[in-house]
Amino acid sequence: MRVVVIGAGIVGSSVAYEAAKAGAQVTVLEAGRIAGGASTTSFAWTNATGKRPHSYYALNVAGMRAHLDLAREFGHAPWFHQTGSIEWYANEADWSAQLQNANEVRDWGYGVEWISKARVAELEPEIDLSAIGDSPIVYYPEEGWIQPALYAAWLLRAAKEKWNADIRPYQGVKSVDVRNGVAKAVKTVDGAVYEADAIINCTGGWAAHVLDGVPAIPMASTMGIIGFTFPLATTLRRQFHMDDLDVRPDGAGRLMIHKISADALVTEMQPLDTAGREAKHLLDAVRKVLPAIQAIDMESIRTVIRPIPSDNLTCSGWIPGVEGYYVAVTHSGVSIAPHLGKAVAQEVVRGHAHESLHDFRPDRFLAAKNGMSGR
Ligand SMILES: Cc1cc2nc3c(=O)[nH]c(=O)nc-3n(C[C@H](O)[C@H](O)[C@H](O)COP(=O)(O)OP(=O)(O)OC[C@H]3O[C@@H](n4cnc5c(N)ncnc54)[C@H](O)[C@@H]3O)c2cc1C
Repeated sequence: MRVVVIGAGIVGSSVAYEAAKAGAQVTVLEAGRIAGGASTTSFAWTNATGKRPHSYYALNVAGMRAHLDLAREFGHAPWFHQTGSIEWYANEADWSAQLQNANEVRDWGYGVEWISKARVAELEPEIDLSAIGDSPIVYYPEEGWIQPALYAAWLLRAAKEKWNADIRPYQGVKSVDVRNGVAKAVKTVDGAVYEADAIINCTGGWAAHVLDGVPAIPMASTMGIIGFTFPLATTLRRQFHMDDLDVRPDGAGRLMIHKISADALVTEMQPLDTAGREAKHLLDAVRKVLPAIQAIDMESIRTVIRPIPSDNLTCSGWIPGVEGYYVAVTHSGVSIAPHLGKAVAQEVVRGHAHESLHDFRPDRFLAAKNGMSGR
């Protein structure tokens, strides 16, 4: 079976790896760099806290487990850091929601530990305990963080070396050739044609842009900002989350900083100044928790499109009315990707529907509009 995967972010890489492993002859066409889209500028925290409804929570948990499976499969996983994460809210008004969320996921089997400030000091001595005050502190030991570019590189290399997958960066797809309701081939911007028995769209936020010949996925993508400090003499190993601030190491001595209120400062992809207001917003927030950070410590600050299907949930399945054309697009893609890769490969290569994707089919967006039924 010939499978073309469009897009080589963390989702496309996972799908390509699993489809190749399942026996497909896989070609990956990526418009730019491997993992150069949202994946490489993602906070990349593997988690399922706050994910609702339950089926979406379960999909994220399946992703977290699949990350562990993948690490075992490779024997080592230089991209995966299962360090756990620490969470607290400064405002008392948020404590009951935190408690409710933690209790609910604990009842669903998620690892949840309420810890003391003394324990935080043991885990992460650089955190200023006065920033925590009297806040309850949750430690989620099963969570971690990923380096998505490394993840994509290792999976695609394995797909190529073990199963002869053809990986083609800088090959943007322009159109899908559909004949009599069946997707037959893709055509690149450069005019090259790749025939296929199945075509899998893994273009993340770009799924909202119509490829000629096939429908787009309705997306409600938002902008995200991630700041990277200079490499610093820090021993921080775990991510921490205080209110809407997320901080973690990047694996090479830098800290990655994300803050939801900073995301609202931009509405489109644009270059940002490392001394600008967005960088200041991020650094000011971190310095309250890690006093050693200086106001001049930002090395780079990037904007990125956060791929979000229009109802905030994963979209994975055959596109109604276009046989052989499948879409796999999701937010929380870093958490979900290794599971999604397996599930999509089962559906596309082996032809068996995967139960975990039952609630996330594209026909919830497209069937009514097109008057088409699913495959
Ligand atoms: C600021 C921020 C923080 C986040 N934090 C987290 C988090 O903590 N945990 C988590 O799980 N998720 C998080 N996410 C979401 C997660 O990063 C995404 O869900 C995930 O990266 C999506 O991966 P992807 O492979 O689908 O998309 P992408 O990485 O964007 O890959 C899509 C690829 O498709 C390519 N492409 C597009 N059009 C074409 C075309 N026509 N032809 C060929 N190639 C094409 C693009 O070049 C791109 O490389 C965050 C996202 C952002 C922005």
